[in-house]
Amino acid sequence: MTVSITFLGAAEGVTGSRHLLEVNGTRILVDCGLFQGRRDESRERNAHFPIDPASIHNIILTHGHIDHSGALPVVCRDGFKGHIYCTTATADLSQILLRDSGHIQEMDAKYLRHRQEKDARKKGLPIPDQSFTPLYTVEDAEHCDGFFQGISYHETAEVAPGVTVYFTDQGHILGSAAAHVQVKRSDGSTLRIEFSGDRGRAHMPILRDPEDYPESDIVLTESTYGNRVHEPIGEMENTLAEIVHDMLRKGGRLVIPAFSVGRTQNILYHLHRLRMAKKIPHVEIYVDSPLSMKATQVYAEHPECFDDDTLALLTAKESPFSFPGLRYVQSVEESMTLNDHPGPCIILSASGMCESGRILHHLKHSVTSPRNTVLIVGYMAEHTLGRRIFERREKVKIYGRTYPLRCDVKTLNGLSAHGDRNDIIASVEPLKDVARRIVLVHGERTQSEPLQASLKERGHKDVVIAKLGSTMEL
Ligand SMILES: [Zn+2]
Repeated sequence: MTVSITFLGAAEGVTGSRHLLEVNGTRILVDCGLFQGRRDESRERNAHFPIDPASIHNIILTHGHIDHSGALPVVCRDGFKGHIYCTTATADLSQILLRDSGHIQEMDAKYLRHRQEKDARKKGLPIPDQSFTPLYTVEDAEHCDGFFQGISYHETAEVAPGVTVYFTDQGHILGSAAAHVQVKRSDGSTLRIEFSGDRGRAHMPILRDPEDYPESDIVLTESTYGNRVHEPIGEMENTLAEIVHDMLRKGGRLVIPAFSVGRTQNILYHLHRLRMAKKIPHVEIYVDSPLSMKATQVYAEHPECFDDDTLALLTAKESPFSFPGLRYVQSVEESMTLNDHPGPCIILSASGMCESGRILHHLKHSVTSPRNTVLIVGYMAEHTLGRRIFERREKVKIYGRTYPLRCDVKTLNGLSAHGDRNDIIASVEPLKDVARRIVLVHGERTQSEPLQASLKERGHKDVVIAKLGSTMEL
């Protein structure tokens, strides 16, 4: 009997999670993500799916983030006939995220065509006939809906003859899970393989803390922050209250660029809790991003994923996602009217790094006045507008025009959805005498190599870093 894993993505890097489990030739794909990074390089890598989708028996999906789920529309369009096993919350969240991704792919293809035409005109050359096709479309994403097979945490499903899976909670985003796969061998023994997906952190708002991993023979664990320790969550809520009071004193607005899934809901949770505890007065809050609104709806529909604190905050009239003063902005027209909003207010909008979307309008109308505040709540990659605001540059460019940056810029740290080095070490510690091998995936070398050394120092005998494209016999 042969069992193997081939690392088709998120090995020696953090995006494009795809692990191919083969049991006697039957193929089960664990996660089916997109590579993300520089536009041209990502396009090149995503354009060629490394195996024939028709040869995949079933897919196991750990959570809805696009770097784990984003290639599903390609696979479902190009011949895959099986099921996508995941938690019910992940199924719901993935469906809206994949549609959004389809829209981005369509926009990307248009942009590339536009660039091609512009280049040709500049050089006085004829405009080429060949156009760019999107990696997939919104329609392709919609086609995935029928493939999802949502199950509860701890419910077992058979994904191939003699191969089962069940999910445990990872507390990373809504519905996120680790996948525990059991393979019945012909000699009657069982091989237990743990796929971590992305591991969250304890004591984060809304979601339950990550569960302990079940006893396993082989553990594939993420290593995103294998060499970093996060700041404690501790004082964060009080800092947020101070920022709100400061905004009220100045009579301006507080603009928060935030990712639609996870970060937006966490900020709402804290604002609601501060309101309930009367630590901040009534203040108008606008969530201005269609994707954030849809994602928040999915959060509200899945209280089975909430921790006890969040369940206690749900009352007949209020929840962290629906309370007096909170408004979801639907239309572009309504979004525009916020620019003339007379009094202080809080605006949460996407995208998270200020690269596109409605947040740009709000920044354009806010950055020039010292009465306003921009609050940074997440990582801002280099070369993004968010990074330039975070660095308090004197001037910033928005929609091609330069504006002086006169507003206040504040930062809230400690909201990362990934566990740090200490969290990862603690998660595998109980498996020291059980697991015969730990495989580090989903991490840059600068993160996975120091983690590998630390785990070996702590007595884990066999710790390896997965190599992209390699196959490991189990
Ligand atoms: Zn994730």
